[in-house]
Amino acid sequence: MTHILLRHRDIPTIKNIEVYKQNGGFESLKKVVTSLQPQQIIDEVKASGLRGRGGAGFPTGVKWSFLPTNIWPHYVVCNADESEPGTFKDREIMENNPFQLLEGVAISCYAVGAAEGYIYLRGEFQPIRDFLDECILQMEKAGFLGDNLFGTGYSLRLKTHLGAGAYICGEETALLESIEGKRGQPRVRPPFPAVVGLFDKPTVINNVETLTNLPAIIEKGAAWYKSLGTEKSPGVKIFSLSGNVNRPGNYELPLGTTFRELIYTCGAGLSEGRELKAIMPAGASSSIIRVDETNFDKVMDIAMDYENVQSVGSLLGSASVIVIDDSHDMDWVINKTVHFFKHESCGKCTPCRDGNYWMLHLVERIHHGEGTKADLELLHSVAAQVNGKCLCALGDFSTMAVTSALERFPEDFATKVKA
Ligand code: SF4
Repeated sequence: MTHILLRHRDIPTIKNIEVYKQNGGFESLKKVVTSLQPQQIIDEVKASGLRGRGGAGFPTGVKWSFLPTNIWPHYVVCNADESEPGTFKDREIMENNPFQLLEGVAISCYAVGAAEGYIYLRGEFQPIRDFLDECILQMEKAGFLGDNLFGTGYSLRLKTHLGAGAYICGEETALLESIEGKRGQPRVRPPFPAVVGLFDKPTVINNVETLTNLPAIIEKGAAWYKSLGTEKSPGVKIFSLSGNVNRPGNYELPLGTTFRELIYTCGAGLSEGRELKAIMPAGASSSIIRVDETNFDKVMDIAMDYENVQSVGSLLGSASVIVIDDSHDMDWVINKTVHFFKHESCGKCTPCRDGNYWMLHLVERIHHGEGTKADLELLHSVAAQVNGKCLCALGDFSTMAVTSALERFPEDFATKVKA
């Protein structure tokens, strides 16, 4: 299929501004600024059914409409803090199709009346930040950013901001704190960023992939976009496929594509002689899906969208699909995830800070053959006391793999612990 987001795979030099322009680049931005009212764009994006691609799947146009019109200025922040283990899609967009992202950011700024937009990148993305800064300069020189765009009274500036390498800064309120120069920790909500956001002003925060959809939606219309994907989850999605597959990588597919197509057609299956044992569809934050001979076909035929993945006890999230074969036991898997979350917990709230500390002690003990059956029960109990009791979603995410592994793969743990 022709790519909508990963267009560089069809037009390899599209990161050159001239090539981007020759292929319809900035026509959507020109169209919205010169001929549409902001409300018309919000309505079009609502009608397209575009949902946030950062993980939550919240309808984008609805999010934009929450901004009050009696408090100004408004800001748009693009969340480019891509840090979920197993997710590497935004990076590919920014490195190879940067102008489509920047045009999308500019369209969203116009739609919500923002004169300033920020792109917040994770600390390890310094080279990408330098590249985006260069792209922004080129857009300014070409008249696609700056004062009085296309001869209208609308002026827009985009800025990049580099984080310092903390996973929690992908959480939208911690991200805002970080831009403001404060410690990157989540804010208590309400108030929500749509009302009290960046510099205490109404702010829209959208993921890189979400915003990169916008030029195509404006160009081809909401009805065209809605014809892709499923009824409740329209459009295309980039699935980051990794783990025990022969051909890992990013695959842009309609939402609703099956696990079978992603893993066995795109990913060319597993190594010879290996069986599929588990899937983590949302990176380290996933509830782990068990796959065995009793449910193999059922799981493989699940449509990967925001609704159907729930039917096998997990979530689509940012669609970072990690495949696990039968050479791995789940005590090893949760040892990895708990190490990660213990390290990345920002420490602001006690259940997450202390819960992850204790979960790490327990999974280490179990993994190294020093745990007991009582440790398994204690681990389950600690995870249950963290889940739902934290200030932000990281606390809940840290328990997903642990609880699902203990409940769905008891045999992997039974052989590791003493009586
Ligand atoms: Fe910080 Fe964890 Fe609490 Fe989130 S849940 S605020 S990461 S301590």
